[in-house]
Amino acid sequence: MAASPMVNPGDQPVWVNTDNCKACDICVSVCPSGVLGMRYESTSTLGAMISIDHPEACIGCNECELTCPDFAIYVADKQEFKAAGLSFAKLTDDAKARQEKIVANNYMSLSEQGVK
Ligand code: SF4
Ligand code: SF4
Repeated sequence: MAASPMVNPGDQPVWVNTDNCKACDICVSVCPSGVLGMRYESTSTLGAMISIDHPEACIGCNECELTCPDFAIYVADKQEFKAAGLSFAKLTDDAKARQEKIVANNYMSLSEQGVK
């Protein structure tokens, strides 16, 4: 049986159901830790797709999941994550600086050039 997209597909802090993502950038804009970015994807809506570039920096704040209008992004339950021996990151100055660069890059992943 295929796993529900709401179920963590692995030991990931944050994951996406790409079928639902409309590439609206909202989750990227609210992430404090520079975890997310958009990548060019010619086959998807608006020509872009959400990308989880730095899962190791996810602080588990849930802002992305709470603000996504399309229920496309999910964050691990804190207690389940901890019970599995995993932990979210702490917010660092480096992560905050990366987030500022992503915003300045029009919410595109820093590996992507140009403006969509
Ligand atoms: S907020 Fe949701 S729909 Fe918008 S880019 Fe993020 S995952 Fe996709
Ligand atoms: S839970 Fe918070 S830190 Fe993690 S990706 Fe979502 S908004 Fe970013």
